[in-house]
Amino acid sequence: MNYHVLTLFPDMIVSGLHTSILGRALEKGLISLDTIDIRDYSMNRHRRVDDYPYGGGAGMVMAPGPVYRACEAAKARIPDGNARVIYLTPQGTVFRQDMAREFAKEKHLIFLCGHYEGIDERVLSRVVTDYVSIGDYVLTGGELPVMVMIDVISRLIPGVLGNEASADSESFENSLLEYPQYTRPEEFMGEKVPGVLLSGHHANIERWRRNQSLLRTLQVRPDLLKKARLDKKDLEFLRQVLQSKEETEPNS
Ligand code: SAM
Repeated sequence: MNYHVLTLFPDMIVSGLHTSILGRALEKGLISLDTIDIRDYSMNRHRRVDDYPYGGGAGMVMAPGPVYRACEAAKARIPDGNARVIYLTPQGTVFRQDMAREFAKEKHLIFLCGHYEGIDERVLSRVVTDYVSIGDYVLTGGELPVMVMIDVISRLIPGVLGNEASADSESFENSLLEYPQYTRPEEFMGEKVPGVLLSGHHANIERWRRNQSLLRTLQVRPDLLKKARLDKKDLEFLRQVLQSKEETEPNS
């Protein structure tokens, strides 16, 4: 996977991603990161890339020319010159794990980070293939959102996590949240690790984890359950949970 990031703040991206698991993945060449400073494509002698919005109003808008030329430069570095161009914007489709899985299939991805009030619409409509938001809030720039996306996508690239199994059972895989995790010590502040996890009985451990996963999802994100693939045992467990809830809180 090769990431190409168009930004006004390349240092932020480089330092943010060269740490821990992603830093190792970059060193090993499992992923690569190419940052393109949009300012390098300004024709202005002060390297200016923004201007006042037509029609008035607060803030500045990133001009189309430098963004267009930076994007062309990124494409020129890709063998067939073709890649999806993702604009990080609060107006985009909200980023989810299934979207990350789709992006992880690509060889090259170009990300475009906005700043100030955003980017001139005419360049967006010419170069952008995907408009993606990381959530319903507004950040000052697309740099943190792109780091979030690269982190999520990279974890799905074979070899990045080291232990491939760990991505399979995680939250949002099959639309369920993950079960609770425990490590040593066996007892912490008087609270013991659930006994089943110490039993060594793999089938029971698996069932307990599955039930915990169902329970958490039901409590915190019931909306996800609609999309989850559930078998008879899962449905029976959920029925029992809902029934006992009904008995203890009849008006809930
Ligand atoms: N004026 C824009 C609007 O109201 O839609 C917001 C611009 S925001 C202050 C500046 C830049 O931050 C955007 O161009 C985008 O790249 C990035 N950004 C802000 N919030 C974001 C979010 N939730 N998801 C992805 N990118 C975001």
